[in-house]
Amino acid sequence: MEKIILIKYGELTTKKDNRKEFINRLAKNLEYKLKDVQCKIIKDFSRMYIYFDSYDEDKVCDVVKNTFGIFSYNFVDKVQTNIEDIKNKVLDILSRTDFKTFKVVSKRRDKSFLISSMDFNNLVGGFVLKNLKDKKVDVHNPNIYVNIEINKEDTYIYLNDLAGLKGYPVGIEGKGLVMLSGGIDSPVASFLALKRGIKIEAIYFEAIPHTSLNAREKVISLAKKLLKYTDNIKLYVVPITSLQEEIYKKCDSNYIITILRRMMYRIASLVAKENDDLILINGESIGQVASQTLNSIVAIESVCNMPVIRPVCCMDKLEIIDLAKKIDTYDISILPYEDCCTVFVPKHPVINPKEDRCIKIEERIDYNKFIEDIMKEIFVIDINDKKDFDDLL
Ligand code: ATP
Ligand code: MG
Repeated sequence: MEKIILIKYGELTTKKDNRKEFINRLAKNLEYKLKDVQCKIIKDFSRMYIYFDSYDEDKVCDVVKNTFGIFSYNFVDKVQTNIEDIKNKVLDILSRTDFKTFKVVSKRRDKSFLISSMDFNNLVGGFVLKNLKDKKVDVHNPNIYVNIEINKEDTYIYLNDLAGLKGYPVGIEGKGLVMLSGGIDSPVASFLALKRGIKIEAIYFEAIPHTSLNAREKVISLAKKLLKYTDNIKLYVVPITSLQEEIYKKCDSNYIITILRRMMYRIASLVAKENDDLILINGESIGQVASQTLNSIVAIESVCNMPVIRPVCCMDKLEIIDLAKKIDTYDISILPYEDCCTVFVPKHPVINPKEDRCIKIEERIDYNKFIEDIMKEIFVIDINDKKDFDDLL
C-alpha cells in the first residue's frame, strides 16, 4: 500500500535567497539515506512529499526523524479533491484515532475550490460531530488538528505535526574539521555542528602505546553513531606519541597540557587547510578543566589561524550529557580508555597560562620538524554505512 510523508522545512523559510539550494540539499540528503528504499521524493517551495510502500515505513520514518533541515513531518492520506471523498476520509481517520477534542484547519492551495476555508472547516467539523457523538470542537487547545490541504487534483489530510530535528540540511555550509576525542563533549559538538548544516570530518590524536587501540575503536564507534545524521565521515588519525614524549621531557610540567594542545591545534589546522575544511570544531566547554579557562583558550588558540567553533562552550556538563544520551553516544563515551590528553597529566596544570611563556617553553623543542614527520604518518579511516564495523578497525 502506498504511504506518504509530508515534510515542512521550518527554518529554511527564513533564508529566502538560499531557499532553493536548501531544498535541493535536503532532497539530496534524503535520497542518499533512502537509496535502498523504493520511493519518490517530490519537492515544492514549501513542502516535500515522500511516497513509499508501507513495507518500508519504519526505515523511512527513521530517516526522516534523523535528518537535519526538517521542521516537522506527518503521515498524510491523499484523496481526490471532492467534498464527499474528503469528508469520508476525515471520518475514517478520526474513527481510528484516540482523542476528545479537535479542530479542522483547511488550506486552499488551489483557489478554484469554491468553498472558503472557513466554511469548509465548519462543514467538515459538523460532519464529524454528527457521526462521532462523543467528540467536541475546541478551537483554542484541541487534542488534535485535522489539517486539510486542498490542491487542484488531490487533497492531503493529516493530523498533528511530528517534530523533526530542525536545523539546516548537512552540507549547506561547507566542511569543518571536528577534533574528536573519545569523550562525551566532542560527539555532542559534532552533532550540533551538523545541525547547523556543516559537513564534518574528524581528527583524532593518539599516543600509542600510551593510549590503546581500544581508544581508537571507541572514536570510530562514536563517528559511526554520528553517521545517522550525515553520509560519511573521514577520520584523520594522528600518531602524536613522539611529540608528546618530547613535550613531556622538555617542558615545565604545569605547561605540558597547554603546549600539547597548542600542538594539536597546529596540526589540526594544517590538516584542515589541506582538506578544505573551513573551520575547526571541538568539544571545549568554558571552565570545564584547566585547559578550558578563557586564559587557556587565548593562549592555545593563538597558534591557529582559522576560526575555532565550540558548539558546547556555554553548556553545563549535565546539559551536554543529556544530549549525549539523546544521540546515543554517551554509553560509548564513558568506556574507560585513556585519551592522549589524560596520559602524562601534571599534578598542577596551569590555569591561567601566558602565551609568551608558551612561546619561550616551545623554543626547547624543534616542534616544526616533529609536526612535519607526524603529518606524513597521518592516515585516514573513511567511515560510511557501506562498511561493516570490523572493516574499519
Ligand atoms: P570530551 O571533551 O570529548 O568529553 P574530554 O572532556 O576528555 O573529552 P578534553 O580534555 O575536555 O576532552 O578536551 C577538550 C576537547 O579537545 C575535546 O572535546 C576534543 O574536541 C578535543 N580533544 C581532546 N583530546 C583529543 C584527541 N585525542 N583527539 C582529538 N581531539 C581531542
Ligand atoms: Mg571536555
